[in-house]
Amino acid sequence: VNNTLEGKVVLVTGASSGIGRATALALSKAGARVAVGARRADRLKELAQEAPGEILVLEVDVTDQQSVRDAVEATVDRFGALDALVNNAGVMLSGMILNADTAEWTRMVETNLLGSMYAVHAALPHLLRSKGAVVQISSTSGRISSAASGVYAATKSGINAFAEALRQEVTAEGVRVVVVEPGFVSTELTSHITDPAIQTMAKNMAESMRTLQPEDIAGAVVYALTQPEHVAVNEILIRPTDQT
Ligand code: NDP
Repeated sequence: VNNTLEGKVVLVTGASSGIGRATALALSKAGARVAVGARRADRLKELAQEAPGEILVLEVDVTDQQSVRDAVEATVDRFGALDALVNNAGVMLSGMILNADTAEWTRMVETNLLGSMYAVHAALPHLLRSKGAVVQISSTSGRISSAASGVYAATKSGINAFAEALRQEVTAEGVRVVVVEPGFVSTELTSHITDPAIQTMAKNMAESMRTLQPEDIAGAVVYALTQPEHVAVNEILIRPTDQT
């Protein structure tokens, strides 16, 4: 028997745009009570208006450990439990290693890698209680590194490494760990790239193919979270058909 998301409590980080937003909406449509976190609270309030179910808006900066901890506690205070954490907040500041602005490296490591680790740390006691799930939004870059993606790929393969250790630690307790690895999805992600040549490359790439849409990834998250309890969907790699 498949599990239902009806009444389940899910915290989605980075829900103010792109994949996180689409995932929060899909979960809400499936009956979940969803806590949505990001820095842009105005965007989250719009999302709360649009969602069919109950939404808790949380202004969160995942690079700030206390902010993450507060968001998890606020979710449990409001809804009484936590059934799943979708670790989605992330930034991609692509660029070559030579002459890079290393402040961008710090930002990627602090957001993508440390931020998602802080969220797992804060959520895990609650997830053990609910026999819940952690969904890590990684990337194809978590599997294959490439030029101009060194640091981003390092954060995403770091996420995969952390997820596998977590899986081994908690799967016997009934907590499931899911890694989702999207290829090119049309979102705001590439808009933050500061190198104009790489910004152009990203634009050309988007125009050269039928890219994935945020809803395509949201569907994968819903799929993983609605499997029967003995089924752990540990890894989902999804590329646009047109992406080589
Ligand atoms: P978007 O830029 O549209 O969304 C990123 C989200 O992360 C926003 O909601 C943003 O919210 C949030 N975020 C960024 N920094 C922080 C922070 N410090 N604290 C809290 N939230 C933060 O991009 P996507 O939807 O594409 O990205 C979502 C995830 O998917 C990322 O982890 C990305 O690496 C991954 N991914 C994306 C792919 C793609 O092709 N688009 C491919 C593979 C993986 P705010 O700015 O309001 O804080």
